Amino acid sequence: MTVAGPQPGQPVVFRNATVLTMDDAHSVLNDTDVLVVGDQIAAVGAGLAVPDGTAEIDAAGGIVMPGMVDTHRHMWQTAMRGYGADWTLTQYFVYYYLNWGKIFRPQDVYAGNLLAAIESVDAGVTTTVDWSHGLRTTDHAEAATDALEAVPGRFVLAYGNIYAGAWEWATTPEFRDFYTRRFDGKGDMLRFQIAFDLPGIEGFPEQAAFEVARELGVPVTTHAGVWAVTGDAGINQMYDGGFMTPGTTYVHSASLSPDSYHKIAATGGFASVSTESECNAGQGYSPTWRLRKYGIPVSLSQDTSVWWSGDIFSAMRATLNADRAKEHDEAHDKGETVTNHILRAEDVVDYGTRGGARNLGLDSVIGSVEVGKVGVDLAAARSAIESTLEYLQAEHGPEEWEKGMHPEIPEHETLNNPYTYRDDVSAWKESE
Ligand SMILES: [Zn+2]
Repeated sequence: MTVAGPQPGQPVVFRNATVLTMDDAHSVLNDTDVLVVGDQIAAVGAGLAVPDGTAEIDAAGGIVMPGMVDTHRHMWQTAMRGYGADWTLTQYFVYYYLNWGKIFRPQDVYAGNLLAAIESVDAGVTTTVDWSHGLRTTDHAEAATDALEAVPGRFVLAYGNIYAGAWEWATTPEFRDFYTRRFDGKGDMLRFQIAFDLPGIEGFPEQAAFEVARELGVPVTTHAGVWAVTGDAGINQMYDGGFMTPGTTYVHSASLSPDSYHKIAATGGFASVSTESECNAGQGYSPTWRLRKYGIPVSLSQDTSVWWSGDIFSAMRATLNADRAKEHDEAHDKGETVTNHILRAEDVVDYGTRGGARNLGLDSVIGSVEVGKVGVDLAAARSAIESTLEYLQAEHGPEEWEKGMHPEIPEHETLNNPYTYRDDVSAWKESE
């Protein structure tokens, strides 16, 4: 059976839904209608009267909730979705930063971004920050932006380039010209950030990039608290330079000192927590349990589809798991039992919706459901990805490609068991 969906521009009413309003009180409304006119929610209530010609959707038994927000995803890497499922952070750095990321052409960035943008909208993630750190030239940036504009969602291009210092590329006339042409004054469907990291280089050369951000009036997003890569030194440079401004995003914030966490909290910063990433890759233990002690607001992110998906529900579940596992483990070490959880399901829904909206300064605009999306050309996205993969595989060669996808498993110990195995267990182990 085919049911025609609402046409673009047609008002839509969702009837009798369970509505997660995600207002300040996190109110949940049962048997409630939501009327959407144009691109805004016009009314929320029971038994709503609606304009003639409104599309009716029976949402009984379903949930209506705000669109989700991802505050940090390297969308260009979706071109190699799933390739690094077994990587550590070190393998990721060697692959993308040292060896292969630099062969991405503008069309490869376009292909990755296009599929990632479709993946976001399809997963109900209506706002995504594209932490685009492979922009070796402004041609790459044009391609990244073209892809974001081709998909009906809200995106933020966080412009970055790991192959040069931020103080080099952010200060060029080409960078300034690109920003002015493609972003300046373009409204809130497509926004801009500057993306770079602070490993604590002596002399703080990144200051020049912070000054550009300040001049353009755009926020900075930075991977902070990444084990053995970005630590307190970078935070101290930012703080001492007066660049820890409200709305700055500190991605991961997983392995910092108490002093750095206090600085982030006191200056109005936000943590973008990528729980699946931190648990797998090794930036530090996923930090929500720690961040709440310092009063640092949290948004959620998926980091990269090289390991994970663009699904913020996965991020919410992973965050509950990591936070609660930490609490239980710490209690058990002290011989205690946790009888009540601190982090609640509604808290992670907040992180994944309003938390992201606040992080991006969009909380008066979003945190609300978007409907009436027009169709996207999935076939075109698929064929763009296929050409990119063909090119990358040819450049790597088959052996290198396989090696990158299947890193070696290190030696690991199996303990000697002091007991004698039962015969049936021995037989079973031998058959394994
Ligand atoms: Zn990242």
